[in-house]
Amino acid sequence: MKYIAEPFKIKMVEPLRMTTREDRQEAIKKAFYNGFALKAEDVYIDLQTDSGTGAMSNAQWAGMMMGDESYSGARSYYHLMEAAEDIFGYRYNQPVHQGRAAEKVVFPALTKPGQYWLSNTFFDTTRGHVGLAGGRPVDIVCPEGLDTTTYADFKGDADVEGMRAFIQEHGAENVAGIVMTITNNSVGGQPVSVANMRAVRALADEYGLLLIIDAARFAENAMFIKMREPEFADASIKEITRETFSYGDMYTMSAKKDAIVNMGGMLGVRDNDELAEKIKSFVIPFEGYLTYGGLAGRDLEALAIGLEEGLDEDYLRYRLGQSQYLAARFEKAGIPFQNPVGGHGVFIDAGKLLPHIPWHQFPGHALAVELYIEAGIRCCDIGSLLMDRDPVTGDAQQAPAEFTRLAIPRRVYTQAHLDVVADALEAIKARADQVPGYEITWEPKVLRHFTSHLRPVTA
Ligand SMILES: *Cc1c(COP(=O)(O)O)cnc(C)c1O
Repeated sequence: MKYIAEPFKIKMVEPLRMTTREDRQEAIKKAFYNGFALKAEDVYIDLQTDSGTGAMSNAQWAGMMMGDESYSGARSYYHLMEAAEDIFGYRYNQPVHQGRAAEKVVFPALTKPGQYWLSNTFFDTTRGHVGLAGGRPVDIVCPEGLDTTTYADFKGDADVEGMRAFIQEHGAENVAGIVMTITNNSVGGQPVSVANMRAVRALADEYGLLLIIDAARFAENAMFIKMREPEFADASIKEITRETFSYGDMYTMSAKKDAIVNMGGMLGVRDNDELAEKIKSFVIPFEGYLTYGGLAGRDLEALAIGLEEGLDEDYLRYRLGQSQYLAARFEKAGIPFQNPVGGHGVFIDAGKLLPHIPWHQFPGHALAVELYIEAGIRCCDIGSLLMDRDPVTGDAQQAPAEFTRLAIPRRVYTQAHLDVVADALEAIKARADQVPGYEITWEPKVLRHFTSHLRPVTA
């Protein structure tokens, strides 16, 4: 597969410090073999996340200087409202400081204690906020979504019949609503089709349920729809986005992904003014006055510009092309990964690449450490290290798959950087049987992957 060249040129650079293998061995040891504890300065290619790590454009940086810092009614707020109304087609749009802030405002307002929320798969923070609001999150994704080996166009889709069966079993009064995550982050940035959105809308109408779109990667999702859903082959990204959003009642959004800002979020209500009023009464105490929502005026301005830039087809083709290029190199080298690749990165099947490491010695983490030592690449485990212990028994829990996630920041790395990543993986594959597993020497009670201390297991 040919690399799709950047539809931009570079006029500002951030130098990277080059390190030796010995430097990196020392640094990762000091970090207790946990990439989160590394100094970013000691990292060459940082694929830990695509969230808030993108490069803003010249127009966005110019917008930062034009930001209006008035407490209420700032010009930058109105710019953002114009862009959001035009793109999403919703009557009420609200800036907040990041995606989870939108969740914190929305779920307590809409959840009665003990009610279920269904999703094509909740993102971690969304799942957390449903729980904090007294609700019970349930993932009901299509079966293809959990099968890493066979191809499907829309592995992010919800299992609509599965959702219907759940609602019938538990009673519609015990279900608060449905969250559709686009793209479906937790199953690998996999897209959701318009056909699936329509079917979920019909289900929500049948049982009188709310439908919320978790829209962090709405533009990448729209580009996948354009490429894979024939009805939309000639539609613009904005038309596809409008169509997709027309099936929701509300959206929450982390703007740190497709809106290409380093910090920011949004939420919106399509046309239910009563619902909008209820949400507003939660926004002011948590996030601040309605026209700034926890963001500086300059951030509102950069977000308004980033929302539009994120819809550009040439950019999106290049953007999805980066994951596809990396995946094609892995395929050629026989490195197993979640196929087809999603929008924001590649999930390597470390369980298959390092079969000698048992799940309780964290193959996904072992590969992440090895990539750092090999070439200064930082990435993370999406496997059994990420799984916290059973809260009742304290037993370690096995993840359904042992992945190492390579998330690609937007407009940051070049083809040559991606080649460094692929070369490093090939080198590791050649000596895979020498890669050690890891054991934990200290861990906190929850969210252990962020702060655990580990050490290599030596035979
Ligand atoms: C990142 C993300 C969030 C949370 O957003 P933050 O800006 O990190 O708070 C929620 N949902 C999805 C799908 C995300 O990718």
